[in-house]
Amino acid sequence: MSRFREEIKIIPNLAWVIGFLLYAGLFLFLAMFVLRQEPEPAGWPLVAKAALAIVVPLPLFMFVLLIGYVYADAKRRRMNHVLWTLLAIFIPNGLGIILYFILRDPAPTPCPNCGMMTGKGFAFCPSCGFALAPRCPSCGRGVEAKWTYCGYCGTSLPTT
Ligand SMILES: [Zn+2]
Ligand SMILES: [Zn+2]
Repeated sequence: MSRFREEIKIIPNLAWVIGFLLYAGLFLFLAMFVLRQEPEPAGWPLVAKAALAIVVPLPLFMFVLLIGYVYADAKRRRMNHVLWTLLAIFIPNGLGIILYFILRDPAPTPCPNCGMMTGKGFAFCPSCGFALAPRCPSCGRGVEAKWTYCGYCGTSLPTT
């Protein structure tokens, strides 16, 4: 849950403002015009009308927040955030947003030594030179912790 809250925090304030304005606008539009003039809802009890006016604009609010999230998250991950924001907005039915969550790059991780954010696939920290991934002592390529021998040059790897 705290992870979810952390993610919510990156949504830009502008997205909250736009989302809220659109929500309020649609709510008023429903309350003032549609629910009063359409023959069906006009005969409904007030509670039903109020519930409808509150619930119907919610997906729009969520949509704007998700767009804001895609923008901030893509920027954080050093992806093309402008392109992804446009895709998220213009691919219909939220498919752009779904696509983003499938295709997004892994989140940058902080260097354990100095705390600087590192990019995906970095073997060394660009700030302090700390080795971020285990390396073969012979050929210098990245190896996995469970390997006994280097997959590239066959050197026996020290077991940790
Ligand atoms: Zn570092
Ligand atoms: Zn090697």
